[in-house]
Amino acid sequence: MLSRGSIGRYSAFFASKNFIRSLSNAPLDSTKLKIISSTKPSKPKPNDQLVFGNTFTDHMLTIEWEAGKGWGTPEIKPYANLSLDPASCVFHYGFELFEGMKAYRTNDNKITMFRPDMNMKRMNKSAARICLPTFDSDELIKLIGKLIENDKHLVPEGKGYSLYIRPTMIGTTNTLGVSTPDKALLFVINSPVGPYYKTGFKAVKLEATDYATRAWPGGVGDKKLGANYAPCILPQLQAAERGYQQNLWLFGPEKNITEVGTMNAFFVFKDSKTGKKELVTAPLDGTILEGVTRDSILTLARERLDPKEWEINERYYTITEVEERAAKGELVEAFGSGTAAVVSPIKEIGWKGNDIQVPLLPGEQSGQLTKSVANWIADIQYGRETYDNWSRVVADLN
Ligand SMILES: *Cc1c(COP(=O)(O)O)cnc(C)c1O
Repeated sequence: MLSRGSIGRYSAFFASKNFIRSLSNAPLDSTKLKIISSTKPSKPKPNDQLVFGNTFTDHMLTIEWEAGKGWGTPEIKPYANLSLDPASCVFHYGFELFEGMKAYRTNDNKITMFRPDMNMKRMNKSAARICLPTFDSDELIKLIGKLIENDKHLVPEGKGYSLYIRPTMIGTTNTLGVSTPDKALLFVINSPVGPYYKTGFKAVKLEATDYATRAWPGGVGDKKLGANYAPCILPQLQAAERGYQQNLWLFGPEKNITEVGTMNAFFVFKDSKTGKKELVTAPLDGTILEGVTRDSILTLARERLDPKEWEINERYYTITEVEERAAKGELVEAFGSGTAAVVSPIKEIGWKGNDIQVPLLPGEQSGQLTKSVANWIADIQYGRETYDNWSRVVADLN
């Protein structure tokens, strides 16, 4: 039963500006798409000239949002500079979030996206956290599909080649007052990319980092906000001065392992008494970015690794455990996971003046599971195998 007081509050809400605003807020609508085609379509660059994130396709997608009006007309138009008021809140208070996903040219000449629903869900979570507008995921997937279709001649062909998709949202309110943005711009740009490892895996050396913290409980390390990335470059340079390519981010007095660089981290241990192997990654406790690759690896590992030989665990584990188990010969392999590289093998971890050696297969640059996982995922991405609805067709070139 509603009390008299709450009825009063409800009717006040229904009569309020906010309610009227929410009624008149237009949802993101892909059927309103307007396409302005480039007059000079570019020729695809030869595959060997593709540098990650340096080349872009001919078109971009932009959609403006305004409080009280909602989402405006989606536009696909020639790739060009943006024109923004220098007071725009993105420049002052970091109202920015992004996504990273890929489209693939399959053997049967279709173009597919890998689990785009996961990226859209995550993008909406990032937006909600910094008071930028949310949107209907399926509508944005459709629009991205149209953008890719428009530049389909620029989706590279070949093993490990793909189109990197960068959806981005910024707050564009032009006031220096710190407040909820009442204007935003969602845009998507695409970049043809080659394999992360052109000549096969190259295992990396990490520095276990406890002098800087990437993410903390109650923070925003589990969101893809631009503000999370700039502060991580200096520690990376410091590690590089000591000969390590990436940071292995530790957290708290226990020195829990959280992530590696901008990837999720996986370790494989083998119990020397029982012989049972364990695949471990940190739990999603708010300090870990919810990687789509991480989720895909856990799902496939739980299904494909023999439970008599394997345990798959999302649990806390520390650099001390890794150090002790390496000393006992119980550390089997370790790798990072993310969209750009899928998996990235680890060969060494610097910690307190010691280098912990991570085993690799003899004469190779990765462990066995790292290799298997890379193949499992590539087979689904390039359409050699279908799994659930992980691959979504956005263009058929036949
Ligand atoms: C993007 C990202 C990942 C990997 O996420 P994927 O969805 O697998 O690409 C992991 N950690 C951080 C910090 C990231 O930004």
